[in-house]
Amino acid sequence: MGTLEKLRLKMSQVPVDAFLVSNMQNWRFVSGFTGDAGTLLITRDEAIIFTDSRYTEQAEQEAPDYTVIKTVVEKNVLKETIDKIRISRIAFEKDYVTYSRWEKLKETLSGQELIGVSGWVEELRAVKSEEEAGYIARAQGIADEAFSRLLPLVKAGASEMDLALELEFTIRKLGSEGIAFPFIVVSGARSSLPHGVPTSKKLEPGDFVTFDFGARCNGYCSDMTRTVVVGHASDKHREIYDLVLRAQLAALEVIKPGVMAREVDLAGRRVIEEAGYGEYFGHGIGHGVGLNVHEKPSVGKTSEDVLKPGMVITIEPGIYIPGFGGVRIEDLVLVTEDGKKNLTASEKQLIVV
Ligand code: ZN
Ligand code: ZN
Repeated sequence: MGTLEKLRLKMSQVPVDAFLVSNMQNWRFVSGFTGDAGTLLITRDEAIIFTDSRYTEQAEQEAPDYTVIKTVVEKNVLKETIDKIRISRIAFEKDYVTYSRWEKLKETLSGQELIGVSGWVEELRAVKSEEEAGYIARAQGIADEAFSRLLPLVKAGASEMDLALELEFTIRKLGSEGIAFPFIVVSGARSSLPHGVPTSKKLEPGDFVTFDFGARCNGYCSDMTRTVVVGHASDKHREIYDLVLRAQLAALEVIKPGVMAREVDLAGRRVIEEAGYGEYFGHGIGHGVGLNVHEKPSVGKTSEDVLKPGMVITIEPGIYIPGFGGVRIEDLVLVTEDGKKNLTASEKQLIVV
């Protein structure tokens, strides 16, 4: 069943006559249209892209099966179209409609009943086709290569910002469309900030340095994290690093179709908790990756999601000790029919630079 058929099935179950898609990554996934202004209207037998003159030609090329209707400021084309095709109940994406947009929708579509729905497209996006998984694997390959090229430059005296910039430059040079998200490069005591931004701080002997970064291929992201230590690894460095690595391996071990995502979180979390470091691991162990770097499924301790072949998730336990520093190790994994395939190739033993 194609994406449109799946969405139409959902529509018939509610039931509604139409579905308005207003999230950009969602309409890209459904239609192929990559423009960043527009709305998608799916009815029982029509599929329409509304966009302005900057994008109409592009939309026609990227989404040949769709009717493209040009929006103009003088009149409400969406309303005109909806009135013409006689729709009475319309589902819309309530997670992406601002309050002012909602007020406008209510006013212009006063003859229709609006029903807010959540996650319809995201649920489909969570399971990747072979083609989509291929783009993610390619982005990850670029990230691995960039990291191996960066390593010789990671040493005492180099600044977090310079290393982040070098990594970004290399990733783009290797063919990435851009960065998947602003890179995290944090060192020393700053490495206890799970999402710290790079600063002009220079690496010093005894620093943990965490790199969290990703490339982008055909719109699809990759996401990986490695932590290295500068100069010399103390017993404490090794204890924490080995613990995070053991937690990561334990979580990876349980990944296969049919497993609850929260079981994966639990398998890793247990290792950290049993060693007495539970309070230093505050976030979920992973997340889905695709057109967005964070998307369905969620891989945390309260997740209701079940792993399915085609899902791409990260496994990224961490321990963050304020005043000392932190370690995170993150791999990108494709769930396959018979288990999993780790898309990340970079070394995971502690690297001393
Ligand atoms: Zn990451
Ligand atoms: Zn991540």
